Formats: sequence, C-alpha cells, structure tokens
Amino acid sequence: MRRRSCDLMIKKLLSDYPVLRDIIAAKPILWLNPVRKPFEIIQSQLPLGKEDVEDAANRLERFRPYIEQAFPDTAPRRGQIESPLVEIPAMQNWMGAFYDHDVPGRLLVKLDSHLPISGSIKARGGIYEVLKFAETTAIAHGLLKITDDYRQIDSKNFRTLFNGFSVIVGSTGNLGLSIGIISAKLGFRATVHMSEDAKQWKKQMLRTIGVTVVEHKGDYSHAVAEAREQAKVDPLCHFVDDENSQDLFLGYSVAAERLKRQLAEKAVRVDSTHSLCVYLPCGVGGGPGGVTFGLKLAFGDNVHCFFAEPTQSPAMMVGLSTGLHEQISAEDLGIKNKTIADGLAVSRPSGLVCRMMKHLLSGVFTVQDDELYRLLAFLAKCENIRLEPSAVAGFSGVSKILRAWEQLEISADMNHATHVVWATGGSMVPDDVWNAYYAQGCLQ
Ligand SMILES: *Cc1c(COP(=O)(O)O)cnc(C)c1O
Repeated sequence: MRRRSCDLMIKKLLSDYPVLRDIIAAKPILWLNPVRKPFEIIQSQLPLGKEDVEDAANRLERFRPYIEQAFPDTAPRRGQIESPLVEIPAMQNWMGAFYDHDVPGRLLVKLDSHLPISGSIKARGGIYEVLKFAETTAIAHGLLKITDDYRQIDSKNFRTLFNGFSVIVGSTGNLGLSIGIISAKLGFRATVHMSEDAKQWKKQMLRTIGVTVVEHKGDYSHAVAEAREQAKVDPLCHFVDDENSQDLFLGYSVAAERLKRQLAEKAVRVDSTHSLCVYLPCGVGGGPGGVTFGLKLAFGDNVHCFFAEPTQSPAMMVGLSTGLHEQISAEDLGIKNKTIADGLAVSRPSGLVCRMMKHLLSGVFTVQDDELYRLLAFLAKCENIRLEPSAVAGFSGVSKILRAWEQLEISADMNHATHVVWATGGSMVPDDVWNAYYAQGCLQ
C-alpha cells in the first residue's frame, strides 16, 4: 500500500478503534470481546462442528498402537499424547503478592510443556496433521485399512512408500520440531522453513534427525510464504499451512475432552455457578483457537477462554479488535514483532482462527517480555516447573481477569472459579539456554 493511503487508513482505524492507541504504545492491556455471543446461537454457523473433533479424536485412537511402539515415552499413556494437569498453590500465593490481587478459587496448570515426542502444544496439532497425511496416503496406495493394526506402519514397507513424499512447513520453531520429528519417524522427507526468531538448538535438533532446515532472514509470515511457494511446485509434497490448516486446528481441539476428564478426576466442578477460565498463549492462533473450540463444545458458556500475546506481537488482538482479521498485521501499525517469546512472534493472525473465534473468545491480553522472565523464574522457584518464555504468558491473565470480572458479565461467583493456565512448551529447552532465561528472570 502507498505510504499516504496507508497513513490515512491507520488514522481512520485509530478513530474507530481507540484501543489501538494502547496496542501501538505497547502497553500491556486486556481487550474484552464486545461481540462474544452465546455458544448455542453461534455453534450452527461455524464451518466446523463436534463431529469434526470426534473424527480427529478417533483417528488419534487408531494411531495409538503405532505411537506407543514408535515413541517409547508415550508408553505410560499407551500411545496417547497427553499432558498432566496440576495444582500450583505456591505459585497461586506468589501471584497474589506479585500482582497485588488475591487469586481466589483454584489455579491449575496444563503442562503441554511436558507432552511426549516434542515437548510443546505442537505435539497435538502438528503430529495429528502428519498422521492424517500418512493414513490418507497409505490407504490410497492400498497398504492400509482403518480396521488394521497400525503398528505395521512402523515398518520398512511403509517407510519406503512415505519416502516418495515430502512434508514442508514454515515455523518459528516448535511446529517445525513436531512436524520434523513425526515426519522423519514415518519416513517422509521433511523440510522446515525457520523464521529469524527460531532458536539455534531447535534447528540443530532437526538436522540431527535428517530434516532439511532452511533459514530465513524474515519473520514467521515470510518463512510460511516461502514454504508455501516451494510446496506448490512439488505434487508429492504435503504443505502444513500453519495459517490456514483445519487439520492442525482439529488436532489441537481434541485436548478439550481430555481436559474435561482430568478436571472431573480432580473433582473440579464446571457449571453455571462454577466458571472455568482458560489462559492460552497465542501465536498465529491455531493452537489456542483449536483448544478453545474444543472447550466451547465441551463446556459451552461455562468456559471463558483468553489468549495471551506479547505486547510486541499482538497479532490476534489487532485482527479481532478491528474485525479485519488476517487483512491487518501488527507490523502494519508499526509494531516490531520482536519478543523473547519466540513461539508467539507472529504479526498476522490466521484468518481461519479469527473467524472461528470471532464470537467465541472472551478476550485477549498482552504481556511484556520482562514479565515473562519474572513468571518463568518464579514458576521454577515455587513449583519446580521449567517452561520456555512463550509458555508462561497465560499466567499474566489471571489477575487481569479477576479485576475485570464484573465487566465480563460472568454471573458466577469468582470465589468458585477454576483457572487453567495452558503451559505450551519448555521441556526440550537445553539446560544452558534455560539457565540464561532463569538468570534474566531473577535479575528483573
Ligand atoms: C506455537 C506456540 C504457541 C501458539 O500456538 P499458535 O498456534 O501459533 O497460536 C504457544 N506457545 C508455544 C510454546 C508455541 O510453540
């Protein structure tokens, strides 16, 4: 766009959406969704439904015997890729003091940081999408029926077939790790286009297992665009489109029914007098969006989902607050997209996710890097849980939501609420890298 028309457009946006002033000033804020609607009303208008999530859950069930055999760290859950849900009372206390606001109710953390295979939330969507591609390919070539024992996929026969195909993805890091690891295991040739934010250790780990890593000077959107272009010229290539993929989205959404079971096991009530608030770090939106969609199907309006973004990468906040979705990026507003939270370093949100979340999401909040470092250090001190910077972003939302409880128009008493902070990654971070984060958090 030409400079002048661009300036004019931004001027108009600022007058239509005053919240943009604080976003551009990089203030940490809470944006509550003014067009949230009852789930019952919205459900039938959405392009995806309960049956799509069930289809994904069933596919993952079919693959369990294969996963258990191919990835021994999944044996405790017999091939189900799932993470613990744990109570964190010491952190709850510390947060009350740090944010100068009591945290009543229950506080739990969902440790996707400790998901088997790739140690981040991407072990849900990313692995699911590649498994689906493998299943479709094997069925099309007459090697597999859905009633078969999927352990046979872990064999030379299948690897030879899959070796004729490639999988390509653009990523800030963790999606690349998940796609690379599962693709290499199945026998696909894999190429991961990494943005400039991607950490060196993630690239190294991928190269070690035979994945081609292409490094880019540009940011995440640039890496995805390059990957998309490369995929176009190769008919035997599957492109994992982080900005538009329904498969990724559905892979994430399966988490919700499992969380529902974990909550029930802990005797946590979720109903019209016991709200569930869930805090999800957001990059392009697929991970938190998929989980939110699943949670809405599971709990309807008794669950409130909030996305967390760095003040320097407020992609979803800008897209949803203006209603322009993927037609606008944080960079269009002069926001730098530079953050220590590499997994969230995204400037333009997914259009698919924006449309799905438009009436479902309760709000989005932003967090500064300094606060991420503090949270990372204190979670380690209080609870001995090690996360990466992106993964602690959700903690910042709890006090913001408690302060805004009235505006949220939640009829339930906040003393009876349960807060689940989604910890999206961290267990694969090498010690020296993590120690440097920790030291920084202790300095702040
Ligand atoms: C990718 C990622 C997210 C966000 O997922 P999106 O689908 O990009 O929104 C959050 N935390 C971590 C650690 C991630 O790697």
